Amino acid sequence: MGDANHGFAAGRLHWRTRLIAPGPMAPPGFHSLAPAVHRGSTVVFDRLGDAVDDWRQAERYTYGLYGTPTTLELGLRIKALDGGYHCVVAPGGQAAIALVFMAYCRAGSHVLVPGSVYGPTAELAEDLLAGFGVEVERYDPLIGGAIASRIRPETSLIWCESPGSITMEVQDVPAIVAAARARGVAVALDNTYAAGVLFDAFAHGVDVSVQALTKYVGGHSDILLGTVSVANGAAYETVGRAHRLVGMAVSPDDCALALRGLQTLGVRLDRLERSTLTVARWLKERAEVAAVLHPALPDCPGHEIWARDFTGSASVFSIVLKDDWTAARTARFVDALRLFRIGFSWGGVTSLVMAYPDSARLGARRERLVRLNVGLEEPADLIDDLRQALELGTVPVKSL
Ligand SMILES: *Cc1c(COP(=O)(O)O)cnc(C)c1O
Repeated sequence: MGDANHGFAAGRLHWRTRLIAPGPMAPPGFHSLAPAVHRGSTVVFDRLGDAVDDWRQAERYTYGLYGTPTTLELGLRIKALDGGYHCVVAPGGQAAIALVFMAYCRAGSHVLVPGSVYGPTAELAEDLLAGFGVEVERYDPLIGGAIASRIRPETSLIWCESPGSITMEVQDVPAIVAAARARGVAVALDNTYAAGVLFDAFAHGVDVSVQALTKYVGGHSDILLGTVSVANGAAYETVGRAHRLVGMAVSPDDCALALRGLQTLGVRLDRLERSTLTVARWLKERAEVAAVLHPALPDCPGHEIWARDFTGSASVFSIVLKDDWTAARTARFVDALRLFRIGFSWGGVTSLVMAYPDSARLGARRERLVRLNVGLEEPADLIDDLRQALELGTVPVKSL
């Protein structure tokens, strides 16, 4: 293959035909350290008999949608890190989540979703899936083994996310898995906080582990990608079949950036953990702060479970300001920050801040809850930034 001369003398073909030249002219044998970017929709075969289209043979090439060497390389590397059976790549974390729900739910299914779940996951379940006849029930993220009483004959999936988005509850995933297994129900985990490495999803028994590579694996706020790793062949039958049908094409260029991000994930996570703990512990001492919801600190619901099940902590956490902080005062604090940029998402090199005053599930604390993501800036500078903004936020409105 790669020979432009399929029985024709190349030199006698018209130049227009030769422009469509199929094969490379550059010599083979380039072995680089950089991930190769293979773009392509159509895959060509030597013989018709080779044109087999079977999603179960996941490591063959049939069509660009189902994998190029770059997209499969990323899936295989995440699978190896997760210790799973297989991994498919999706165009974002949210796409990966949607894929899992579509794979496990049918009209009449019942699914259990923690109250602390990532907002768009809740909306996906309660808006789109409910419209397809799926019954979605919220559960207390700290429910643990008591989830058993919520499982019904028609329960098709238990969703976990640990720690929870914004409110940071660490879930007792092994206890939930034990209850689910006893009833033959699959458990899926959004493992984005752990970057797929700080919590070993499959060693703790989950069937499906989802990650937004957008966060730590990408690591530089410049790509959107997600993965769905499955623990075993049964989970792959469910997820692989759905993946095949929903057309979740991923950009090989983005996958190459994620492959590059993987190479520095270890050093970034180490530094982010240390800097974040420095900032979180400083905040804990501040008079304006009622609680620091960081899994490695005792204020965080489920802290002891984090200590038991995780091998480290990451860069995102929340603070609850004291009772006398109104929404306006909180906004003044957020607006006064200079190094912490106001933005959704986390896991990149830049420190970020976001307040969630409209989030109904956050109850009475909502006006006073601020989420921070610590980046790779020097922690002393981040602390100075927080100090000046807290002190400005503390000034009563009338004296400004
Ligand atoms: C960001 C995020 C997602 C969604 O990822 P995208 O790549 O932005 O679609 C899902 N789950 C969690 C916990 C996230 O933080």
